[in-house]
Amino acid sequence: MHETGVVLTDIRKSFGSLEVIHGIDLRIAEGSFVVFVGPSGCGKSTLLRMIAGLEEVTDGEIEIKGRNVTDLDPSDRGIAMVFQSYALYPHMSVRENLAFGLKMARTETAEIEARVKAASAILKIDHLLDRRPGQLSGGQRQRVAIGRAIVRKPDVFLFDEPLSNLDAELRVSMRIEIARLHRELGNTMIYVTHDQTEAMTLADKIVVLRDGRIEQAGTPREVYENPANIFVAGFIGSPR
Ligand code: ADP
Ligand code: MG
Repeated sequence: MHETGVVLTDIRKSFGSLEVIHGIDLRIAEGSFVVFVGPSGCGKSTLLRMIAGLEEVTDGEIEIKGRNVTDLDPSDRGIAMVFQSYALYPHMSVRENLAFGLKMARTETAEIEARVKAASAILKIDHLLDRRPGQLSGGQRQRVAIGRAIVRKPDVFLFDEPLSNLDAELRVSMRIEIARLHRELGNTMIYVTHDQTEAMTLADKIVVLRDGRIEQAGTPREVYENPANIFVAGFIGSPR
């Protein structure tokens, strides 16, 4: 076991000549639940995509479990990402959607079956395995999307606003599910949201971003009770 799950060292990102991430340093403890929060356009997705390897860093270094992954492909980083749009394959059953990534990675059939079974039990979608995505509710689809991440047994889960397409009631129940998942799996989770309530209730550590910089990082309580500046106070303190 490594003490540090993810380390970001002076991460920068430019699109063309425009720098949008301005030197982020962050240490994320293994097994912790870290939430990146901040207004639209502050760089949450870009930062997460760089950790995932979906976006190259312009400068800086990314370490996952003590390994420098900065130049590795997404599939070699030990991560799995869940997006806001579920991106399920519409012509495949739930079972096939869950198994697809593992098949591509040439995982043994028995192992695939075992992992699909375990993941669908955890997510309570065992009864939906033969359905197609079009026959599922929004919440069920998002469970399948999370299931696709779980079957890969990643070291780190990356979530980019996974609940923002769901209605308010479902958002609350899925939020509770995700917290439960974190307790049961014990993985490092990095979760992006612009929703202050999600951040406050899910996080061990909140990272408040603004314009590509960290304004404050701390426990929900620290950030709430002792905001570093007026921006953080306004952002975390204000009701939605
Ligand atoms: P957030 O997820 O916090 O809403 P993003 O990471 O999507 O923010 O975007 C951060 C900034 O980077 C924004 O100014 C956005 O316009 C810019 N940006 C993101 N992706 C691209 C891209 N592919 N090309 C150019 N600019 C981009
Ligand atoms: Mg985003």
